Amino acid sequence: MAEKRDYYEVLGVQKGATDAEIKRAYRKVAKKYHPDTNPDNPEAEAKFKEATEAYEVLSDADKRARYDQFGHAAFEQGGGGAGGFGGFGGFDFNGADMGDMFGDIFGDIFGGGRSRRANNGPMAGANVKASIRITFNEAVFGTEKELELTLNEECETCHGSGAAPGSQPETCPKCGGKGQIVYTQQSLFGMVRNVQTCPDCHGTGKIVKNKCKDCGGTGYVKKRKKIAVTVPAGIDHGQSIRIRGKGEPGINGGPRGDLMVTVLVEQHPFFKRQGYDIFSTVPVSFADAALGGTLRIDTVDGQVEYTMKAGTQTDTKVRLKGKGVPTLRNKNVRGDHYVTFVVQVPTSLNKEQREALEAFRDAMAGKGRHKQTLENDNIEESLENIGKEIKDKTEDLKDKAESWAEGLFKKGKKKKK
Ligand SMILES: [Zn+2]
Ligand SMILES: [Zn+2]
Repeated sequence: MAEKRDYYEVLGVQKGATDAEIKRAYRKVAKKYHPDTNPDNPEAEAKFKEATEAYEVLSDADKRARYDQFGHAAFEQGGGGAGGFGGFGGFDFNGADMGDMFGDIFGDIFGGGRSRRANNGPMAGANVKASIRITFNEAVFGTEKELELTLNEECETCHGSGAAPGSQPETCPKCGGKGQIVYTQQSLFGMVRNVQTCPDCHGTGKIVKNKCKDCGGTGYVKKRKKIAVTVPAGIDHGQSIRIRGKGEPGINGGPRGDLMVTVLVEQHPFFKRQGYDIFSTVPVSFADAALGGTLRIDTVDGQVEYTMKAGTQTDTKVRLKGKGVPTLRNKNVRGDHYVTFVVQVPTSLNKEQREALEAFRDAMAGKGRHKQTLENDNIEESLENIGKEIKDKTEDLKDKAESWAEGLFKKGKKKKK
């Protein structure tokens, strides 16, 4: 075997690097040399294999401890004490299998679909689901929320190994540390090969005999945690926010699962949302609709002035451009706000209002006659007619006065007799 490079060197990290640093470094190297991005490139393949091997060891607290103590000798076939861990002899290197081994990591980089569990390799923790309730306006403009959750955390006493301080988990004798059991069965179609998760170690490949008291051998303790959730502007009811690495802890050094937060948006008293547009109805008085005027309309940005033109009919829709919801992609790009005007007919009137409306009605009714007269263009004739009428009436009155005076005169004569 050629001289093997130091695992820390392979990943380009310091000896004391944290798990997160190692994971980040591995991602970087793996992404660069992954066979999917370097087809038919044996050099890249070798680099990828080397990095993966380094990661498998350094991401596992137990293996890393042994590597730090014994170097590569810790994992040579038959050496390294404590049973080794099967070595890398069984590595079937052809892309897909490697992907399975680190399902989540490559799921991130190359798109999902590689989460099938293989042996006792690192496995991503389960995703955790939660929900938060926010107001309509918080959904429009985004907000910061805090979520309190009970999550499994690595036990501080045993650092997740599950073994009591001073002891180590042992390789599972049933599966030899592979985490799986392969057995063959005779069937109608011949021999069938079956693979099952080891029932003794539940796939971890390790058995804890001397259990850690603080976690009961599980390696994890439940802890109440506060998690900050950044709700982006424009989120809609029922949509989810993925917070990476805030789910359940991974298995065998795998990354934590994700936290999926479903957002529940409260209804607004008068705004309705559809996609990135907002809809509302605005009542306008009968007089304003007829005469036109400036209104103050409520939007998510506060009130805006709108000049309504005279003769606006009920159900008229207007668009307030850019007053809708910001898009998730770019909060400076916003939907619109559509306003529907609903003309209100007064249901009760005081005396003054009633008279004004009656005058209005009479004016509307009289409008027709007035128009006709003007159209005839016979104002002189009209005036002549009026003059005649006055003359007639005056003569009439004159006649009446005369006959009355005559009457008085006759009475006077009779008395004189
Ligand atoms: Zn513990
Ligand atoms: Zn086992």
